[in-house]
Order: sequence, then C-alpha cells, then structure tokens
Amino acid sequence: MTDSLAVGDGSVVEFHYTLKDSMGTTLDKSEGEPLLYLHGTGQIVAGLERALIGKVAGDAFTEVVQPEDGYGRRTEQPQAVPRSAFPATAKLERGEQFLTRNPAGQPQPIWIAGVSGDTVFVDFNHPLAGQTLHFDVVVVSVRAATAEEKAHGHAHGAHGHHHH
Ligand code: ZN
Repeated sequence: MTDSLAVGDGSVVEFHYTLKDSMGTTLDKSEGEPLLYLHGTGQIVAGLERALIGKVAGDAFTEVVQPEDGYGRRTEQPQAVPRSAFPATAKLERGEQFLTRNPAGQPQPIWIAGVSGDTVFVDFNHPLAGQTLHFDVVVVSVRAATAEEKAHGHAHGAHGHHHH
C-alpha cells in the first residue's frame, strides 16, 4: 500500500490554514502548530469539514464557505445588559467571549459587542456570523483515530497530551 490515507469519518487531521474575508483581509490563521481535529465531529465549520473529505497529506486547496456552512447568518441584534451581570473582574472588551446558559439550561456562548458606561451590549451571534469565509488550507497529516480518541470524541496531540 502506497496510497495515503484520505480524510473521512474517524480521521485525525492536521492542517494549516489562513482564513480571509471577502475583502482579502486575514481574519485568522494557524500559527506554528497546525490545527488538529477529529473528522466527523463538527469541531471545525461544516463547509470546511466537508471540503476536507478525501484530501490526503500534502494537499493544498482554497475553499469558499458560505455563512450557512460557516458561523451562520446574523439572527439577533445585540442586547443591552447591565455591567453588574458580569463578574467584577471580567474583561469586557469587544469580541470577548463568555458562556452563559439559555432558558433550557444549556451552555450558550455570547460575545461582547460593545460597552457604554454601565451597559454592556452582548451578541448571541458568532463574530464571524454572516461572513463568507475564504480558507487557504494545506493538509499536514492524516491518520486513523485511536480507540481512545474515538471514545473521547476529539483528537489528542502528537505526544498524547491533552486537556479536558
Ligand atoms: Zn481525550
């Protein structure tokens, strides 16, 4: 067998990426270490996960991901909440993420959209919601997940060290 393992469910994949918006501005990129993930678990945005199917180590490609397959459309306007709703030590800066709970008691991420005096504007949309995402990707490695990784539902690092 000389064929390289192709990405599919149960693959542990490392890749480098640069994420740009439609204006060509870089929004995010892998720095140093490539991003590591377990394929098929929704750990990366759906459009990118789908584009990686069948790729092998060394493949390089560009993928344009629409908001529906990225961080979603923007749905709600930011809501004003009092500063006192946050811990006194919380760093309340635009773009900071917090976890709250929705009415059903499930974890709900929120982002700070802005601060005005004692009022904090919180946004339930991911900061990249509504954006078309332009990914430049280089696949670094593809391997089968270990039994432990499958049981945990996430990839473990090269040295078996990870945080839960
Ligand atoms: Zn684990």
